[in-house]
Amino acid sequence: MSKRKNQCLVQGCDFDKDSGFNKCVLHRNNIDLRDIPKFYRTLEEYIAIKYASHKCSYEQIISYFKKTRDEYSDSLVVNHLTNKITFDNIRFPSEISGPFFYLLSKFGNIVFDFCSFRFRIIPEYQNDYFFYSCTFYNDIAEFAFPIRETHYDSCLFKNNYTYNAGTRNLRQSKDPEFNSCAFNELVTLKGLNTDKTLFTQCEIKQISIESSVLDSLPLFFTSKVILLNSTIKSSCTLSANTINLLDIIGSNIQGLLSVESENIYNFNLKGTTLNSVSFNNCNFTSFPHFSNVTVTGASSIQRTKFFDGLCLKSVTFLNDVSFLDTVINDQFQNNTSRETYRIIKHSFDSIGNTIEANKYFALEMRKAYEELSWKKVKDIPDKFLMWFNKITSDYGQKWWLTVIWILGSALLIHLFSSIDPFNFEVLNGMASVIIPYKEIIGESHQMSKLLTFAWFSILLYQLIVALKRKTRR
Ligand SMILES: [Zn+2]
Repeated sequence: MSKRKNQCLVQGCDFDKDSGFNKCVLHRNNIDLRDIPKFYRTLEEYIAIKYASHKCSYEQIISYFKKTRDEYSDSLVVNHLTNKITFDNIRFPSEISGPFFYLLSKFGNIVFDFCSFRFRIIPEYQNDYFFYSCTFYNDIAEFAFPIRETHYDSCLFKNNYTYNAGTRNLRQSKDPEFNSCAFNELVTLKGLNTDKTLFTQCEIKQISIESSVLDSLPLFFTSKVILLNSTIKSSCTLSANTINLLDIIGSNIQGLLSVESENIYNFNLKGTTLNSVSFNNCNFTSFPHFSNVTVTGASSIQRTKFFDGLCLKSVTFLNDVSFLDTVINDQFQNNTSRETYRIIKHSFDSIGNTIEANKYFALEMRKAYEELSWKKVKDIPDKFLMWFNKITSDYGQKWWLTVIWILGSALLIHLFSSIDPFNFEVLNGMASVIIPYKEIIGESHQMSKLLTFAWFSILLYQLIVALKRKTRR
């Protein structure tokens, strides 16, 4: 059937084009404010045409819409449209007609198919709303409502979405549900308390959750996550190429917090209890902040790089943690605490990975050495011992360094064998007393021989320790 000359171009639409446009007021993309009354009048006709039948005529439906709030009663029309009303492919403007939605609220569920919206709030009536393949152009806010439910399926939110339970009793409200939706901007949830999975296969760019209780939180491609004073009853999974911000503050994650991301720029975990943590293949591009964190279960930080250091001294791990293939950039050791190295060392020790444990032991010692000062008298003996350990074997990490010291010492002593700065009678006498074996010490240069003997004993001991560190099972 061919279209009338002035008929709207949209398939199946019988309304006239608006002048200057090729579509009717219901299907034009962005109408002026002055066209809004016409839009809602046309929408009433749309319903009347679509739902008129032998039980309930077009005129009866239209006359129902003409009634005011006071005049309305449970009429034939309301009974007729009890189940649901479906809107197909309608472009809703920025302004909501309060009276129109009020009348709709007397009907059953409202289904929106392939519609688009420019208004900013979901009307607070008791209908259940179903949105299928809809687009929301502006910020959209929804408030908890005890009776109605809202379902979003394959919808696109081009701007922010906010759900606010407000002061209503958390347990009374019915929660929204999202399936295969995409959120291009920020999703904000406040005061939500739900046992069901809120988001299924959704793509959320940014999310902020405040004072809420959620069952689980699966997030993919999300670059900004804020969890404030909230509880996640099972797991929180976060996987994204880049995470610009991950803030978990004053919260409780009763399951696993699992994070996988090539770049994490800002990370703050504060005042939070978690069951377990998993960071896998993560790169912390800046220093992650932990404070007052308790992890009760077994955790793993694997194949993860901390480019700006790591400080775990305010994290309490009540169970084992695995740090396999984790790298903490040495260049920024100032950020990494001794306690962090100790925790990592202990973790490797507990699984019998002695070689890795020794590596972190050396880092722990380096840190301890930095913490001691040459200027404090009480620090000097320990600092000297650590300094010696450091230059001769790097705390047992470099056996070849000790070998160089042995060979170098032997060469120097050989070259300068004619010089003996200790050749005094008193010193030689003392040395003879300390080691009373004439065969070893001979009759001359006793003190020099004793010192040489002691020096090589120390170096050989260093070498044995360093070799054991590298080969011990
Ligand atoms: Zn049309």
